[in-house]
Parts: sequence; structure tokens; C-alpha cells
Amino acid sequence: MKDADFPPILPTYARAPLAFARGEGVWLIERDGRRFLDMTSGIGVNALGHAHPALVAALTEQAGKLWHTSNLFNIPAQEALATALVDHTFADTVFFTNSGTEALELAVKMTRRHWHTAGDPARQTILAFDGAFHGRSMAAISAAGSAKLTAGFGPLLPGFRQLPFGDHETLEAAMDETIAAVIVEPIQGEGGIRALPDACLKGLRAACDRTGALLIFDEVQCGMGRTGRLFAHEWAGVTPDIMMVAKGIGGGFPLGATLATARAARAMTAGTHGTTYGGNPLACAVGAKVMEIVADPGFLAEVARKGAALRQKLEGLAAAHPQVIAEVRGEGLMAGLKCAVPNTDLVAAARDQHLLAVPAADNVVRLLPPLTITGDELAEAVTRLDRACTTLP
Ligand SMILES: *Cc1c(COP(=O)(O)O)cnc(C)c1O
Repeated sequence: MKDADFPPILPTYARAPLAFARGEGVWLIERDGRRFLDMTSGIGVNALGHAHPALVAALTEQAGKLWHTSNLFNIPAQEALATALVDHTFADTVFFTNSGTEALELAVKMTRRHWHTAGDPARQTILAFDGAFHGRSMAAISAAGSAKLTAGFGPLLPGFRQLPFGDHETLEAAMDETIAAVIVEPIQGEGGIRALPDACLKGLRAACDRTGALLIFDEVQCGMGRTGRLFAHEWAGVTPDIMMVAKGIGGGFPLGATLATARAARAMTAGTHGTTYGGNPLACAVGAKVMEIVADPGFLAEVARKGAALRQKLEGLAAAHPQVIAEVRGEGLMAGLKCAVPNTDLVAAARDQHLLAVPAADNVVRLLPPLTITGDELAEAVTRLDRACTTLP
């Protein structure tokens, strides 16, 4: 018997009562015509806003030529995007995926295979941090470890241990020759826009260098220009051995990537990993265009400038509404408002003002606007947030 009351979409999301028909830059247009200022960017995905003409052109041009061939063949757009990523980062090599979660899966497999091939297969433990988010697969929830992600899904994958976020002494004590790798988001997204101070990132690099452990950065949310540098770790002047990228890199088309140094990647020989869709011609045509626009130093400088302006405005907002906003966090156009009311109340009040924002853990509201947002649109966003705050106790 079919259960007619059970929703046709698995109810794992508490969705807002909105459905959008179109997007234009930073605006989302509801089916009924209402225009919403989109400070979510599809959770940091639509880095260049909605319906960016250059991305529409890249996608439609490729769509008229070739959609998919599989990785049995060379894919010129994939090679172009990989070369651009290698040219602009620490990495020697790139593997393309469809999501951040799959990028995490490869980061874990690459780590294990590295130590296996190095003749030290017992070196398996990957250290992660409280409040982390690396995706929803078994490896990803086992890495992050929080009960919110793992409850009811055991047995978890062995080989992960979580440490307190930003506590260098605990890390130093934990770092020995059994640690295969350390994985960290330079700025936690889902965890509540919590930035790891530059000194901690430097300390992490030094600790990994001391023991030989691989350092993995998860830049799925904080990367691709979001902070005003191409990748957030550039602010600290340290580089990882492996890095996960997704969200913004596809501009809305599903695309992720695992970047690595030759040292970390060398054990991943032919046949050790694969994907049907990852890096397909459609995704890479869009990704290459996103990369061309975002990696431009002038574009990144603008993101940093707009981020600083947003920060100043949000500090003013917090000062005007201390009963609603307790603290402003973030870097560039990755902003967090630590709330003094339930964060979902502020998200709902903002939605009433036709502004869309994303809740995060630690009672934070995230603002992740398209990187193309204008100064006027940022000012409009803060005006709407100000009105939303006024409606809250
Ligand atoms: C979103 C996210 C992921 C997972 O990416 P998906 O594309 O949803 O699989 C992993 N890490 C971080 C930091 C993220 O923000």
C-alpha cells in the first residue's frame, strides 16, 4: 500500500515557503512576482549571482556541442580548468567531482593511500575539529563527528578524531606519528562563520611539517574568492597538501574538485579512483569561466573592498540592535551575525523584508551574497536587515 500522506520529496529539509521562478544577479523573483535580495547565493554557490551572462553563454555554447563523454577520454575544458587551478594555487594536480562531499571522499582516500604506499598503512587517524562540516557521506559525517550529523547513522567510519576548534595545545599534544592528516576549514561555514586565526593555521602547518602529516583544507565554502583572496588560506600565507573546493567553483552548476601536491597525490595511480560525471564538459565549461572571472586580481580586490564595507555596516547594525545581534564575524563576503535572539527568528524577520539569509550553527545567521553584489545592493541589504531587527524583541 502506498502512503498517500508521505511527501514525494524525502522530508529532510525544513523549507521556507517560497519557490523562485527566475534570478537576476543578486535578486530572486518568486513565482508571484515578489523580488528577494539573495544573501544566500544558494549557500555560497552562485558566486557570480543568478543568470550571469558570461556563464549563461559558456553553458549554452557547450550545451550545443557536447554534454558528456566520461573520463575514458580527454576533456579539453577539464584540462583548461585544472591548469588554471594549478597555476593559481599550491596544487600540482586536480581531480574533479560533482560536490564537496565527493571532494572530501577523495581527500580521505588519498590520505590513506599515501600512507599505505609509504609503507606505513597503520598511520590512519585523521584529526578534525569540533563544529566542522565536510558533507553528508559516511566519511564526511565521521570526520566532522558531531551528534547532529551522526545520530542514528552508526557504525561510523573509523580513523577520525575531533579536537576542540582553535586549541593549539590540544593539537600539539595529539600530533604524533600515528596522525595521517589534519583536516580543517580555514573559516567554518555551517559551524557559524568561525575563522581559524592566521596564527593557528601557521601552527597547524608547522605541526604537520614536524610529523609529516598531510594538511587538508576544506575550502568548499570559504574558497573561490569568497574572502577577497582566491582561497581563504592565502591570508595566512600557508598552503595545504590537499584542498577541497566546490560550491562557488561551478557558479551554480554542480562541480567540485580535490587539489593536491604531487607528494600527496603520487599514490593515486590509474584505476585507484574514478567518477562518471565528475569534470564533465558542461560543468568544466562553466567552471573555467567562473575561474577566469574570479581569479582576476581586480575582481578579488573588489570583493575585499566590498567585504570591508559590509563589515563596517554590520558593526553599525549590531551597535544599533544589541538585543538582536551579539557579534559580527567573517571575512570578505562571508559574514556571520551571532544572534541574541534565535537565529531562525532573524532569518524569518529578514525574509519578511524580502531578504534571504542562511542560518548556521552557534546561533549565527550567514550572509553569503554573490561576489558580484554592488555597493548599493549591499547598502539595501543592511537597510532591510535593520528593518528586520526593528521587528524583533
Ligand atoms: C557544503 C560544504 C561541504 C559539502 O559540499 P556538498 O557539495 O554539499 O557535498 C563540505 N565542506 C564544506 C565546508 C561545505 O560548506
